[in-house]
Amino acid sequence: MIKQRTIKQSVKETGIGLHKGDKVTMTLRPAPANTGIVFRRVDLEPYADIPARADSVGDTMLCTCISNSDGVTISTVEHLASALAGLGIDNIIVEVDSDELPIMDGSASPFIFLLQSAGIEEINTAKQFIKITKTIRVEEDDKWAELRPYDGFRVDFRIDFDHPVISETRQHMVLDFDSSSYVDEVSRARTFGFMKDLEYMHSHNLALGGSMENAVALDEYRVLNPEGLRYSDEFLKHKILDAIGDLYLGGHSIVGELVAYKTGHGLNNKLLNALLQNKECWEFVSYETPEEMPIRFASPFLATN
Ligand SMILES: [Zn+2]
Repeated sequence: MIKQRTIKQSVKETGIGLHKGDKVTMTLRPAPANTGIVFRRVDLEPYADIPARADSVGDTMLCTCISNSDGVTISTVEHLASALAGLGIDNIIVEVDSDELPIMDGSASPFIFLLQSAGIEEINTAKQFIKITKTIRVEEDDKWAELRPYDGFRVDFRIDFDHPVISETRQHMVLDFDSSSYVDEVSRARTFGFMKDLEYMHSHNLALGGSMENAVALDEYRVLNPEGLRYSDEFLKHKILDAIGDLYLGGHSIVGELVAYKTGHGLNNKLLNALLQNKECWEFVSYETPEEMPIRFASPFLATN
């Protein structure tokens, strides 16, 4: 039986929040089967749990924010969600002493490192995948995204930025995660933005934690970060990283293909909600042996302890 996963032991990390720029402490804790991903605001008395759910996502202008039924919110969840998707972790408690997760370096890589140092543990309960059985599509202006049946997990992603730096990099790729590693190919891609937007936001008390420490900053003609890009196609890969995280807020790994044109957090979430509401387009499946499982994740036994 392919089993659900959690982490072996708790791990703690501190960083700054993107929105307020304050120090945030985050503790990742193991959780039993069928818990899912639960964010816990320990800055509140009593603390408040915010389970990751497709229909609790809001405010997608700067990042992905989710809320519980009492209206308690947690922001900037998408890069951790992407790391959890990449490692196939089903159950975890994410404690934070703020209303946002630490932004870290703007990629999923520090979360991958943290999860791998906690160690991955299997739980004796079958892992449930969402298998796409019929194509579902959402559109918004000229943007669109589809989930199609596919025996594996593949992403066919296109961005179309009319900016001299981004348009010189690859804007379309197909990544099949049977032959490509999420950790190597995707997880290190940082978020990006324009310096003039960042300056404008700072002047309006927004994105106070945003800097070249946690984003690739662009002006009209070039990348401003002295270290340059981590991948030649880092912009495209970050959009893929975001989409993988956004789709994982449904709590299950998807067996299928994402085909997307210029999508972002809002449309990714619309796709996930459309999918979950259209039950004729998918089914839950579980697998008996690794050989029949169409998705490969990092082996839990590769973890460092
Ligand atoms: Zn992002």
